[in-house]
Amino acid sequence: MIIDIHGHYTTAPKDLDNFRAAQLAGANDPNQRPKPSDLKITDDMLRESVQPQLKLQRERGTDVTIFSPRASTMAHHLGTEATSREWAQVSNDLISRICKLFPDKFVPVAQLPQFPGVSPKNCIAELERVVNELGFVGCNLNPDPSGGWWKDPPLTDRYWYPIYEKMVELDVPGMVHVSSSCNDNFHATGAHYMNGDTTAFMQFISGNLFKDFPTLRFIIPHGGGAVPYHWGRYRGLAQDMKKPPLIEHVMNNVWFDTCVYHQPGIDLLAKVIPVKNVLFASEMIGAVRGIDPETGFYYDDTKRYVDGLSSLSPAEKHMIFEGNARKVYPRMNAYLDAIKQ
Ligand SMILES: [Zn+2]
Repeated sequence: MIIDIHGHYTTAPKDLDNFRAAQLAGANDPNQRPKPSDLKITDDMLRESVQPQLKLQRERGTDVTIFSPRASTMAHHLGTEATSREWAQVSNDLISRICKLFPDKFVPVAQLPQFPGVSPKNCIAELERVVNELGFVGCNLNPDPSGGWWKDPPLTDRYWYPIYEKMVELDVPGMVHVSSSCNDNFHATGAHYMNGDTTAFMQFISGNLFKDFPTLRFIIPHGGGAVPYHWGRYRGLAQDMKKPPLIEHVMNNVWFDTCVYHQPGIDLLAKVIPVKNVLFASEMIGAVRGIDPETGFYYDDTKRYVDGLSSLSPAEKHMIFEGNARKVYPRMNAYLDAIKQ
């Protein structure tokens, strides 16, 4: 089985964008804001909207995608805490409906109602709702709700502990995923995303978070940002900081995905990072949508690169495609077992 652990709902009907625009326009006046019930998106519209993802799954041989709301439009820095909460609920409800319409193709992961400067404690109710009531298997955690200004404390700070306690209790992992950038210095998907991934990893090295939460699990997407390429730097920094080797200090709790859009990048990832820490993903339909003229294939057709890893055995490739994901997202196993029956 091929499990793509990183897909976003980037093809929603325009009605959703219109709802969000109206919500933000009335952010400070509840009477001016549309209600979630005002958003009329039918099941037929949902089915139609995910045909591009289903087509790519068929063409590329992916069995199932772990599916979450569009990352760039989480935009936790916009509106108010109240609109952020409502926006997360609306976005998660659509994901839930899609996953119920295509239970063998999509598994739900949540957006959290984060807001800059507001304790992540405010995300607990929504996480409990989506996991306990809707069967979600994970969440996306934005390490920088301020959208490129990094105003909240590092991920290792006790500030974040309430949401970690709930993630551990519910046994759901978090993908460390920033949203849009409101800092013009940082292109969203080309710089801000990579910064977020790399920054999160360095924060994990600097702190002792996993001593306090030995079963907390994070996925750092986009191939781990700059980390695998600079693995020696990070090992050396940890050593200088008198931390244990990274394999003990961080890598029992952190996984990297394969959203690296060329073969040499995947070759390096597989060579440097333990196979047990790599999860197959494409982030389709996402940041990079074109065809690579050097290969004639889509950049984000990442299964080709994993298939092309001559250094790995079939058993190791199975870990990347399926085995590791089942361990990181234990709540997904019920979905997958239902598919096989
Ligand atoms: Zn993403």
